[in-house]
Amino acid sequence: MDYLRAVLNNDKKSEKQHLNNLVKIGKKLNKDVSTYEKELTKLASIKTSTKKVVRKKTTTKNVTSKKKTTTYKNSAYNISKVTVEENQIIIDFKHYIKKDYIHYSEEKRGGKYYDIFDFDGRFEDASPTKLVMNGVDRIRITQYKYRTLRIELINDYNLKAIYIISKKRVIIKILNLKNTTKNTSKSIADKIRQNKDKVVVIDPGHGGKDSGAIGDRKRYEKNTVLTVAKHLYYDLKKRGYTVYLTRNKDKFIELRDRTKFANRKNADIFISIHANAVPKSQWEKAKGIETFFLSPARSSRAKRIAAIENKTDMSTMNNSSQNALLTILNQSKITSSQKLGIDVQQNLLYTARKKYKDIEDGGVREGPFWVLVGAQMPSILIEIGYITNSTEGRRLFETSYQKLLAKGIANGVDSYFAKNQ
Ligand SMILES: [Zn+2]
Repeated sequence: MDYLRAVLNNDKKSEKQHLNNLVKIGKKLNKDVSTYEKELTKLASIKTSTKKVVRKKTTTKNVTSKKKTTTYKNSAYNISKVTVEENQIIIDFKHYIKKDYIHYSEEKRGGKYYDIFDFDGRFEDASPTKLVMNGVDRIRITQYKYRTLRIELINDYNLKAIYIISKKRVIIKILNLKNTTKNTSKSIADKIRQNKDKVVVIDPGHGGKDSGAIGDRKRYEKNTVLTVAKHLYYDLKKRGYTVYLTRNKDKFIELRDRTKFANRKNADIFISIHANAVPKSQWEKAKGIETFFLSPARSSRAKRIAAIENKTDMSTMNNSSQNALLTILNQSKITSSQKLGIDVQQNLLYTARKKYKDIEDGGVREGPFWVLVGAQMPSILIEIGYITNSTEGRRLFETSYQKLLAKGIANGVDSYFAKNQ
């Protein structure tokens, strides 16, 4: 996993280092490491910076029970889940925990009260996880240090927070919650204000030298998806969301940089917009809208479409690392991506069919889309129609149709967030 992460980050130096380890360990275990060795020689020919590597100091903690430490130090992520249930924060570890795994402190800064919980551990989904608790202004979760997960409750009055340890679980409770019966009847203004915390990154596919699919009459995928994405951008902004576009002009962007951008923006969801195409013999047959979420592909149809969309950015990774990456995908992210996909597809069809009754439902499918791999948040790829079909291809370049598609997607985003706070 360290190796794959290095590949994804395009960090040649650590890629080399982890490859070296793989080869060394693999040889000891009598495994076939020839692919890794080949990769290594390839890498060795690329000059890496000669800067001195500052080795991170490993904090040697005074841990008395040696047995326990070794069992959990071995697993990289020893915190499996952080959730809110019945207005309490639940932190689930993969091992039994003791009192000294938690450090609690209070602070007051800039008129705000901070309740800070530091846990001895690592949690894979630290910053993408967003928690909401009635009566608490903000909850922040960060991997504060390599082995310290920090959860902060930030509030404008002093909370009385306590924690309870129960086997592998820590429960954080607030004793003096003000009676905030939210959700009774939210005004539109309230809703718009709430949406501000939700970050949506829209990714118009292709761009620049990469035109994407090309239909009849020089209809380029890169152009229609950019326009639809822009309409979506303004629609979501109007609804109060914080929105970013990976590109707002005809410019080439590497696939990995698109999700990197979304991760940097701490996006809650990532929506990649594309248009579909088929060989000329099927031009009039193939049409409709379909939505994909990332997972290792099963159907040959998904593989075919993924192969088209993935074309530009696969060169740097060999086949075995591609497959390995797809198999370590986080299951919970796949599930939320699927939920997002269903909400968007349903709303998109419902909205667009009000005016265009003949739009075909291509369904919500799974597929190994490279642009979605690096995303740390629920992410989907929408094929808004077949650019090669005469009717759909024409509509895809009509402003009214483009706006309608954007509205449908925005309705889907609303629906997703209403269900998944
Ligand atoms: Zn595309």
